[in-house]
Amino acid sequence: MIKKDIGFVLKRFNFRETSIIATLYLHKFGKVRGIFKGFYRQKKEFSTPLDTFSLNEFIFYPRDSEIWLVSQAELISEFSYLRNNLKKAAIAGFFLSLLDKTMQLWDKNRYVFNLTFHCIRLIEKDHIKAFYLFLIKFLTLAGVKPEFNHCIICQQLIRGPRFFSTKKGGLLCARCCKSYQDYKSISKEASKTFSYIQNNSIAAASRLQLSLRSQNEILQIIQRFMAYHFDLEDLFQNNLLFPASLTVNPELLFQS
Ligand SMILES: [Zn+2]
Repeated sequence: MIKKDIGFVLKRFNFRETSIIATLYLHKFGKVRGIFKGFYRQKKEFSTPLDTFSLNEFIFYPRDSEIWLVSQAELISEFSYLRNNLKKAAIAGFFLSLLDKTMQLWDKNRYVFNLTFHCIRLIEKDHIKAFYLFLIKFLTLAGVKPEFNHCIICQQLIRGPRFFSTKKGGLLCARCCKSYQDYKSISKEASKTFSYIQNNSIAAASRLQLSLRSQNEILQIIQRFMAYHFDLEDLFQNNLLFPASLTVNPELLFQS
């Protein structure tokens, strides 16, 4: 049966002389692969350049095979502020690569779609916050939410020094961390920031002040945590945002 949905173009490649095969992330259908037959024949059914990042409305035919036939596509927004700013484009590109690498075909998740939509819009105003909000909230929605409210072993609220364990997936207190090897000290400010973003709306979290020190700590935790849960090495290594080393100074990353 014919269906209609809106979604982002994650990536695309030309197929034969006149067609395109694209990976889409749709609001209702999740990640989908579609073929746009005769796209380069300037058919009136395709009123979009189908650029990566762009948001479009699609009409298509879901079926059992991996690639669905898309019969119409219309541009909703191309987020023009991404086109002339390399850093902003790199951040949006990172969001979409992450979706492409972690989402299974046809795995529906409207929360992830909405998060992507709101964070791509936030990039225009504050690309640094958009970056951290997306990453922190994405971990929660992907079902691997790290625990920042209390010690993950003894469940006590932590008042003194706190540590983060990638393997355990959360904070450890000074006493419990003695039994584990893979922990790293984290400041109270960074752990509170992480927890605040996890538990508040994008609108509320986007008003938060993010110190450079917190950014640095959060980025390192996320990189280790994502590398542990997902197969993402090439995403971190071959991205403009993460040159060479895993230890990155966010100030350098986001200089404009
Ligand atoms: Zn403890």
